[in-house]
Amino acid sequence: MFRRSIYKTPAQLRAMVEPGLITAASVDAAGAAIAAGVTTAAVDEAASSAVLARGAESNFKLVRGYHHTTCISVNEQVVHGIPGSRVLEPGDIVSVDSGAQYQGWNGDSARTFIVPDPSRPDLVAARSELSRVTEGSMWAGIAAMASARHLGDIGAAIQDYIEAQGEYGILREYVGHGIGRKMHEAPSVFNYRTPDLGAEVKPGLVLAIEPMVTAGSDQTFVEDDDWTVSTVDGSDGSHWEHSVAVHADGIWVLTVADGGAAGLAPFNVTPTPIP
Ligand code: MG
Ligand code: MG
Repeated sequence: MFRRSIYKTPAQLRAMVEPGLITAASVDAAGAAIAAGVTTAAVDEAASSAVLARGAESNFKLVRGYHHTTCISVNEQVVHGIPGSRVLEPGDIVSVDSGAQYQGWNGDSARTFIVPDPSRPDLVAARSELSRVTEGSMWAGIAAMASARHLGDIGAAIQDYIEAQGEYGILREYVGHGIGRKMHEAPSVFNYRTPDLGAEVKPGLVLAIEPMVTAGSDQTFVEDDDWTVSTVDGSDGSHWEHSVAVHADGIWVLTVADGGAAGLAPFNVTPTPIP
């Protein structure tokens, strides 16, 4: 059986720039739509419009049995929440995961948003902190890609970052992945230390780095809708994700307009545009 290399050519990396930017625009649109009183279906619609307006298609809709542009996971839901009639409330922590396929190449990205609630500053602060830790661990993992020799270095960087922040759960059943012609490709990218070194990190590798973190236990279950992944202990979840390319001159984050410059600055890593 033919197995496609996990390492892409420079031309293939360049082809992933546009779907990355379209994916970023869809998450931007979803984030802008999030507010108290808005349904998660309306947030999904905003992301969908952004994808279609740019001549792309939703790659989530290419996943068998899934019919939405995004996954929207609220409060104790960590990932794979289905958009629908649920109305967002003040103080909700909302993770939006979206993706676009454009001219045969894919982007995949997730961010966590907090619905403002001036009446509950402690709740908002705690949920903002969970999101900050999750986002920071994603950037730590991305920063590690700039110097990592093997995939295992990335998972270790993510785990170390989270453990330095306090007591959090790191989901183990769900992991990051390669991305390219398909949204989900080899290799798997663990968000924690593993006994194996993993594949070599070298030019041509494109990975979706996506830590999924809880404010409590790492134990989750799949709800009766057969998709939504929620915490067993009811603690809040957060999910951040970017698609990242390793190329001859460095790394470039495909799913944010600045290539990751702002997120990587605290780690003293400067992204380099794909030549
Ligand atoms: Mg995703
Ligand atoms: Mg992904």
